[in-house]
Amino acid sequence: MTAQIINGKAVAEITLSETKSLIDNRLASGLRAPTLAVILVGADPASAIYVRNKKLACEKTGVRSISYDLPATITEADLLSLISQLNDDDEVDGILVQSPLPAHIEEKKVIETISAAKDVDGFHPYNIGRLAVRQPTLRSCTPFGVIKLLQSTGIKVLGMDAVVIGVSNHVGRPMALELLLAGCTVTSCHRHTKDLRANVERADIVVAAAGKAGLIKGEWIKPGAIVIDIGITRLDDGTICGDVEFAVAKERAGWITPVPGGVGPMTVATLMQNTLKALELRETASR
Ligand code: NAD
Repeated sequence: MTAQIINGKAVAEITLSETKSLIDNRLASGLRAPTLAVILVGADPASAIYVRNKKLACEKTGVRSISYDLPATITEADLLSLISQLNDDDEVDGILVQSPLPAHIEEKKVIETISAAKDVDGFHPYNIGRLAVRQPTLRSCTPFGVIKLLQSTGIKVLGMDAVVIGVSNHVGRPMALELLLAGCTVTSCHRHTKDLRANVERADIVVAAAGKAGLIKGEWIKPGAIVIDIGITRLDDGTICGDVEFAVAKERAGWITPVPGGVGPMTVATLMQNTLKALELRETASR
């Protein structure tokens, strides 16, 4: 069997153009465009690329973006004070602080300072909690993007055995909650899991989010399984690869995402949707 490729770039383009239409409709009826504040601290090259892609998506959809490029030496207090100022600014709908942050800034404090209503990354404990109790509001971009990729295949995932590799707060944990919400039977694997291979071998859906190149061997994939690779590792030669041994896995899987061109573009497209949604939710709440 050779897997069908889930073209994340194509699905993301559709999501972006749907978001653009909704924003165009708002403008045509005299409403303002959503606004995203993008905060970059320091000069990490990978972060700069992610931020650039997010700003390009803003331009494509008509989301207004405001950039804050801050020095790595900024104090935690000054960063938190900027976030509080943006929380209070009625014209700002989403606040994104690109990670990783310098070691002297506590990420948890940053995430919890962003108003849950403007948390378009979906990282705030309130938004993760909403997802956990089956009332999702602003959903973490990467896991929600994965759900949309699964939907794009047309396959009904209800009742399927899903195995998520990785349990981070930003990716693995909300991913497991999303799959649970979608009606899957979910297993979360992590660095202390005793037998990763056995778990992967019985999975109808494998979602890899460990950030370890080639961790998931192609021969572990159950024939016909859906394989979603969130991992991103930049190799010494500059190429980017995922957690799954793609060449072998694609000969066994039914569906598979490539890296790059799979989950990454959906993360950015979902961020745009979330920014529009954050504005709409605040408008509804103030009525
Ligand atoms: P993280 O380092 O915070 O978490 C990694 C997780 O993988 C941990 O829970 C850990 O227990 C687990 N893990 C590590 N080694 C393992 C092993 N040998 N066996 C089983 N589990 C293992 O990373 P993160 O922030 O969750 O990101 C994970 C990956 O996803 C990274 O490569 C990151 O770059 C990528 N990512 C991609 C996107 C995207 O849009 N495609 C978005 C966010 C993150």
